[in-house]
Amino acid sequence: MVVMKFGGTSVADRAALDRLMAIVRAQRQADAQQEGGDARGPIVVVSALSGVTDRLLGVAAQAGAGDIDGAIASLRDLHQRHVTVSEVVTDEAIRTALLGDLAAEFAELERVVAALGVLREVSPRWMDTIAAAGEILSSRIVAAALNAQGLPAAWVDSRLAVVTDGEHQAAAPQFPETTAALMIHVDPVLAAHRIPVMGGFVGATRDGVTTTLGRGGSDYSAAIVGSCLGVGEIQIWTDVDGMLTSDPRIVDEPQVVPHISFAEASELAYFGAKVLHPATIQPAVARNIPVRILNSRRANARGTLITAERPVSERPLTAVAAKKGVTVVDITSTRMLMAHGFLGRLFSVFDRYRTPVDVVTTSEVSVSVTVDDARRLPAVVEELSSFAEVSCEGQMAIVCAVGDGLQRDPAMAARVLAAVGDVPLRMVSQAAGRRNITFVIRERDVPTALSRLHETFFAPYPVSASVAGTRG
Ligand code: ADP
Ligand code: ASP
Ligand code: MG
Repeated sequence: MVVMKFGGTSVADRAALDRLMAIVRAQRQADAQQEGGDARGPIVVVSALSGVTDRLLGVAAQAGAGDIDGAIASLRDLHQRHVTVSEVVTDEAIRTALLGDLAAEFAELERVVAALGVLREVSPRWMDTIAAAGEILSSRIVAAALNAQGLPAAWVDSRLAVVTDGEHQAAAPQFPETTAALMIHVDPVLAAHRIPVMGGFVGATRDGVTTTLGRGGSDYSAAIVGSCLGVGEIQIWTDVDGMLTSDPRIVDEPQVVPHISFAEASELAYFGAKVLHPATIQPAVARNIPVRILNSRRANARGTLITAERPVSERPLTAVAAKKGVTVVDITSTRMLMAHGFLGRLFSVFDRYRTPVDVVTTSEVSVSVTVDDARRLPAVVEELSSFAEVSCEGQMAIVCAVGDGLQRDPAMAARVLAAVGDVPLRMVSQAAGRRNITFVIRERDVPTALSRLHETFFAPYPVSASVAGTRG
């Protein structure tokens, strides 16, 4: 059995939903042929229609600013878009029921927004309630559309099926409880040979308070559900042909990487390859479930397969990625750096404020770290300042070159750094595993650095041997 996750562009409009249904139908037929009458699934996990999560967060911001009329006008607009997309549901009775469900969701949202608008305050908890609506709505539409096409589906409420902690906007799944909840809410659907359709991104605490897994979290939902139920494959259907050698929005003509290891994929996802939410791979690794990235506009393309091991590639690098919006924190203490316990004390501050650090470099008198989630940074800086000098620099980016070839060729690190030329490097790090080389630059230098790296290591034709060395 497989889990199939469809991202925002893959459910954006009627044409996208028609493609989705053809893809699900083909999977169901393939499963039936392989497994005979006992075939189960697939399980379908969907994102909100493209752009809807941003719009809903905008509605929450309007409510927080007291602009109730504006927020409600935005909601009515969104309601209309969902009604239009619902025309994809060809069966009159099913569509009428669906439109009733959508109307009820929007009526509830209007009530919430009106109340928040009076209070002029939107806590992360209420942001989650509002943002979650995108996936609740899209999954209802997809379930209805499949049913209308004779593909027996059942809508599953992710707030009942995925149990998380209470860290709003970045909730962590509770695996044992989620497995138990899936046995109650999804397993019977599968046993009845129906297709469970659920919204990604969304969960709820044990007490039933709605949470979300963080932006782009629908990939993670698919992996959570897949690992809890022990499926054979997790498919991520999106708008590109797979994991590419770099970000197609920045470099020219990136190529598809046909096969990549879990370790490489997590590094790339963590350091900016948006095609995969950074946490997606963890549950797949835990149960050794292959992940496939596929293009819903070109369903027959091979995509990218992600597994524990991959065949050795001649290419020294697999891909390069960049993560923007990073802050560098420099912590200097001439007195204490070499003293025992200093680093422990320093990191315990980040730990206490639940602020993860990504890249770390040290010199004799200072430690530099990068922080991606700067929400609690002011408090961290204040506390660090009691025993060290602290300075922060925003608008930085982490660039990460990933490839198992980095382990094989000791000259690779130098070649990677040489390729970025005169772009100033703020921090450089290569970890013990040597699967990646990571460096920090100014955000505005990202296009130059990525393009230079990509031209050097991935150009489809051999450039000068002295620059590019050997290439697969
Ligand atoms: P979805 O809505 O399907 O989840 P996302 O927008 O979250 O899709 O992710 C897909 C996008 O990720 C692509 O359209 C592409 O612009 C971007 N992207 C960035 N880096 C990479 C990469 N290395 N490989 C593939 N896509 C990438
Ligand atoms: N809709 C959510 C977002 O835009 C989750 C996702 O698409 O994966 O972040
Ligand atoms: Mg995504």
